[in-house]
Amino acid sequence: MTYPGSAAYETAQVAYYAQQQIDLEPACRVGPKTAADVAAILKAAVDNKIPFAVHSGGHLTMIGGSNIADEGFSIDLGALNNFKIAKDEKSVTFGTGLRWGQIFPPLAEKGLTAVGGRDPGVGVGGYLAGGKLMSFVMRVQFSRMSIFFQVVSPSCPISMAWEATMSLSTRWP
Ligand SMILES: Cc1cc2nc3c(=O)[nH]c(=O)nc-3n(C[C@H](O)[C@H](O)[C@H](O)COP(=O)(O)OP(=O)(O)OC[C@H]3O[C@@H](n4cnc5c(N)ncnc54)[C@H](O)[C@@H]3O)c2cc1C
Repeated sequence: MTYPGSAAYETAQVAYYAQQQIDLEPACRVGPKTAADVAAILKAAVDNKIPFAVHSGGHLTMIGGSNIADEGFSIDLGALNNFKIAKDEKSVTFGTGLRWGQIFPPLAEKGLTAVGGRDPGVGVGGYLAGGKLMSFVMRVQFSRMSIFFQVVSPSCPISMAWEATMSLSTRWP
């Protein structure tokens, strides 16, 4: 947990893409390391009726989309950054805290790719939650791809995805 004035808090604040998100100052920022941490944080927020924002890659430009002001707090998902390509190389499992620039290079080393954002700074969490598409989606046959989300929502009415398993395609020529 970090508070205004601390180096960690200020570093996280300026990492947002849009100034209007940077300008919002939450009472504190929390950085869960596991899905269980996330569950505990959500439960505490809901039980105590504390408003919160969820931040993966911070590229949403809408004010208040992934940051919050005043008595609210922001959840930084950057530490949920696991990454594993399946042995059969047909799927990849990754945490919501990663950005597409961290997903593509290790896949490309194996001649593989996934349906992701074009900008390397875009977070996988917000991108997948928003159902975005990439430029070459038709060429990699989106209809054959599937994504399975790990959902964390104990005692919380909102479903949130913190980890996803996505089917892979060989790279287009
Ligand atoms: C410079 C730039 C380049 C872009 N390039 C592309 C592109 O190439 N292709 C494309 O399709 N789009 C692109 N976008 C749009 C981008 O995909 C969306 O803005 C996306 O929502 C950003 O996700 P994020 O995780 O980086 O942002 P965040 O601001 O962290 O999150 C976006 C939203 O998703 C929510 N969210 C994040 N993680 C989770 C989670 N685990 N569970 C539930 N909700 C969550 C947040 O609360 C927030 O409301 C671009 C945007 C910018 C500013």
